[in-house]
Amino acid sequence: MNFQNIIMKKRNGIELEDNEIRFFVNGYTNGEIPDYQVSALLMAVYFNGLNERETLSLTKEMLYSGETVDLSAIEGIKVDKHSTGGVGDTTSMIVAPLVASCGVPVAKMSGRGLGHTGGTIDKLESIPGFKVELSIADFIEQVKQHKLALIGQTGNLAPADKKLYALRDVTATVENISLIASSIMSKKLAAGSDAIVLDVKIGHGAFMQTLDEAVELAKTMVEIGGGMNRKVVALVTNMDQPLGFAIGNALEVKEALQVLGGKGPSDLKELCLRLSSEMISFGLKIDSVSARKKAEESLDSGKALAKFFDFIEAQGGDIDYLKNPSKLPSSEKTIDVVSPKTGYIKGINALELGYCAMSLGAGREKKTSKLDYASGILLNAKNGDFVAKDQILAKLHLSNSLEYDSEIESRVLDSFLIDSDKPDSSTKLVLARVSEYSTDYY
Ligand code: URA
Ligand code: CA
Repeated sequence: MNFQNIIMKKRNGIELEDNEIRFFVNGYTNGEIPDYQVSALLMAVYFNGLNERETLSLTKEMLYSGETVDLSAIEGIKVDKHSTGGVGDTTSMIVAPLVASCGVPVAKMSGRGLGHTGGTIDKLESIPGFKVELSIADFIEQVKQHKLALIGQTGNLAPADKKLYALRDVTATVENISLIASSIMSKKLAAGSDAIVLDVKIGHGAFMQTLDEAVELAKTMVEIGGGMNRKVVALVTNMDQPLGFAIGNALEVKEALQVLGGKGPSDLKELCLRLSSEMISFGLKIDSVSARKKAEESLDSGKALAKFFDFIEAQGGDIDYLKNPSKLPSSEKTIDVVSPKTGYIKGINALELGYCAMSLGAGREKKTSKLDYASGILLNAKNGDFVAKDQILAKLHLSNSLEYDSEIESRVLDSFLIDSDKPDSSTKLVLARVSEYSTDYY
C-alpha cells in the first residue's frame, strides 16, 4: 500500500477503507511511516473529516495497538467515567467512591494533570502514602474486594493514540471531533469497563465551545461505544466557571471530603449526583430516578465517605489525614484577591484560573515540574453572586517551595467579570444528555 495515495484520497474528500486505516495506524505506531506524512494526513482529516465507519475503524486500530485490560474476572457490570477535562473538576474523587458504595464495581484508570487541567492522580497523591502503581492483577483483586481501585494509565495502553496525540498537539490538528472522540474512546475501551459515562465539558477552558459541537462530540463517542458493544452515555456540562470552589490538589481533596460528607459546593455536588446516577443506573440496571435516590442516600448516610476511606487505605494512604483534613498539605501564606467594585459576577474565566493555579504550583508547566500539593486557588464567589467592593473574590494559596510571581494576583482578578446589572438567569450545569436512544436538552 502506498501512504501517499492514502493522503491524496483523504485530501480529495474520499472515504478511506478499513485496511487503509489499519495500514496507517500500524505503520505509524511501529515507525515505518514518518511524522511528516502522518501530519499531512491528519490535516486532511481535520478539513475533510471521517464518517462514522472510518471513526470506528480508527478507534479500533488505536485500541488494539497495545494492551487491553480484561476485567471479566470481576463480577457485575463494571462502570467507568471520563471527563474531557476541566478546571477544579473534583468529580472523579467523589463519584468513584460514591458509585462503589452503592455496590457498582469501579475499575478506574485516571490521568495526571495536563496543562491547565488537573488530574485525579495528582490530587490523590497529596494524601501521604497513597500509591497508584498497582499491577493489573492487584488492581483487579482490589476491585473484587473493595469495589474500587484506581491506577495510572499503564504504559502500553493505546500506544498509537499516545503517539498520534503528541503529533496532533504540535500540528494544530487536535480540534477535530472524530480525532478527539477516537482518541478518548480508544483509551477508555482499552481500560476494559462494560459501561462508560462521559462528561463532555463546554465553554471557557474546554475543547468544545458551542453546544452543537459538544453534542456532536458526545454523539460520536456514544456511537463508537455502541459499535464496540459497550453502554455509553454522555452529559454535556458547563465549564464556564470552575466547579466548586477549590482548584488545586490538597484543596480539592478537602473539597471532595466535604461533598462526600453531605455538604460542599452545590454545583459540584449536583454534577457528582448526576454522573453517579448514570453510572449506578448502568451498574445495577435500575432507572435513573431510583439510581439518584441510592446515590443521595449513600451521601447522606456516610456510606460514600466510608468507602472513600476504605479505598484510600487499601492503596496505602494514611486516612488520619482524611479524618483531620487540616493535616493535609496546606499553604503557609495566602493572598486575598478582592473585588475592585460592587456588582454581580457575570463570568469567571476558568481557563485563566487553571493556568494561574498551575503557576502557583498546582500543575506542571513542564513534564518535569514539581507540584506543590498545598497550592492553588480557593474561590469565594461564583457566577451570579453579588459582591461588595473589597469583598474577597478568591484566596491564593501560595506554594511553600516555589517562588511567587506577583503578576498572578492581577490575572486572577481579571478572570472575574463584574457588572452592575443582575444577570437574568443562573448558568445551567447540565446542558444536554446523549444516549444511544436520544439526545435531550435541558
Ligand atoms: N483528550 C484526549 O485524550 N484526546 C483528545 O484528542 C482530546 C482530549
Ligand atoms: Ca473544585
